[in-house]
Amino acid sequence: MRCPFCKAEDSRVVDSRVMDEGLAIRRRRECAGCGRRFTTAETSMLYVAKRSGTNEPFSRAKVVSGVRKACQGRPVSDDDLARLAQQVEDTLRATGSAEIPAQEVGLAILGPLRELDEVAYLRFASVYRSFDTLEDFEAEIALLRAERDPLGTEPDALNSSSSSTSTTTTSHP
Ligand SMILES: [Zn+2]
Repeated sequence: MRCPFCKAEDSRVVDSRVMDEGLAIRRRRECAGCGRRFTTAETSMLYVAKRSGTNEPFSRAKVVSGVRKACQGRPVSDDDLARLAQQVEDTLRATGSAEIPAQEVGLAILGPLRELDEVAYLRFASVYRSFDTLEDFEAEIALLRAERDPLGTEPDALNSSSSSTSTTTTSHP
């Protein structure tokens, strides 16, 4: 691999480290030309098995473009999308499989997308899980509400924003 600084072709490995519980190797290299050091990372290729029976390399860019449509008009930045795609890749790599069914890629997107934006999540889920009826949406929204508010309590934003800060003093006789 060429030195990223001077483009010389020769480098020697000065350190080698196993990362991510054996799923990746990182090598510290020193350029024979300019003497500067750089790091290379080696991971196994991750493939997505498509329904047609073919497979293709996993691509974070494809995850981003798939999710971006669902995020139109929502307060989701490019950085958010990049982080989501990274989370998805981490999740898929953690399964330890070299080939992931396309279906599972979609599933791995749903979790982090819900964290990011519930409306975008609903849009994505409605396409991905092919919601047919209003009831499908209602059921999903009910689920979102239940999980957002597991104890059935209303957020007391009004109370906490009031000016009265109560200090509790406990006396030990
Ligand atoms: Zn160099």
